Amino acid sequence: MLLEVKMPIEFKKKLELGIEYMIALLQYCDDENISPGGFDKTTFENNNTSLKDCSFSFSPIKPKKRVKEFHKIFPSKTERVSFLNSIKNDINFIEHIDNASFSFSAYIHKLDNENEINKHFNRYYSDFFDYEVGGGNNRHHFKEEYKRVNPINFHMCPACLGEMNLNNAQLDHYFPKSTFPSLVIHPYNLVPLCISCNTAIGGGKGNRPPTNPLKPEDANEAGSLGKVFIPYKIAGIKTINLTFEGKNGKRVKTVAKDIQNKQHVQNHTDTFNLESVWTERLVNTHKNIVHQIVEHFISLEKPTREEVGDYIWKNMLSHSDIKINIMDNYFLRASYLKFLGSNIVQFNTLYCEVLLQLKEYGFGYAIT
Ligand SMILES: [Zn+2]
Repeated sequence: MLLEVKMPIEFKKKLELGIEYMIALLQYCDDENISPGGFDKTTFENNNTSLKDCSFSFSPIKPKKRVKEFHKIFPSKTERVSFLNSIKNDINFIEHIDNASFSFSAYIHKLDNENEINKHFNRYYSDFFDYEVGGGNNRHHFKEEYKRVNPINFHMCPACLGEMNLNNAQLDHYFPKSTFPSLVIHPYNLVPLCISCNTAIGGGKGNRPPTNPLKPEDANEAGSLGKVFIPYKIAGIKTINLTFEGKNGKRVKTVAKDIQNKQHVQNHTDTFNLESVWTERLVNTHKNIVHQIVEHFISLEKPTREEVGDYIWKNMLSHSDIKINIMDNYFLRASYLKFLGSNIVQFNTLYCEVLLQLKEYGFGYAIT
């Protein structure tokens, strides 16, 4: 992600217990040599006492249903064992961020029953997040803790740095669940994003196609984790610059500050379609800047042209470089102000626009 956000630690424990439950459940019948029909939830949980507090444990029937589904998808024990080994490899990805030889197993693309597998793991997701406890479901509890541990940033989208209403925000699967079903409830794979980012390219709820991270064809490429900003682990904001191109600099482009991060920045930009999103947002950002300057002057006695110019320079443009680093939420705005202040042509364009608007308020400046 671009923004540095903290993981909700209490909730992380719940998710980890969920993953542990899921794997133990998928493995249970084979380990105990019983048929899925003979599965008994009480016996299973008595054999795995640490799992009794898991959110999956609340339902008397769902664990048995999941066991049956799994055996239906993979009738042969060899397939089940190999599939489980893939899951165990993938869920440990966070320990391998710096490991250039680590790869996801990308098993899903080798199998014919991709849809069935996806449905199966999506059920774990809804079983977990729809579970109601203590006056709200798990989705609600996740957001509550996220807000508590990110008191300054919780209303900012970590992917695009725009405003985010956490109540409406969707929990995004950073590694798409269609490619990585075993990461459906992985703590490092779940991050609240604004609606625009969650649906950036796909156009439907949670349907963002796996551009990056990671394209299905790249998913099992060794070292692929070294090319993405993993949520809660790698924040990209310090590695990225914006440039403004086209007529009056109205087209936003992202650029990596150094070559090591070039691929990260490119992948993040493509995944969330950021150049288009920010170019669109820049229209309002520009209007707001002009409006803010004009607002300042219309309440004053008639200022001179020089005073207007001085104000724009001193209050809006000259310190924007510092603001970029300390005010993440104004990243687009601060980057744009820096650009406007970077050469006399840009400065004059803004200056003239302000004078023109002030003229409309009866200040009567000659625009030359
Ligand atoms: Zn966003």
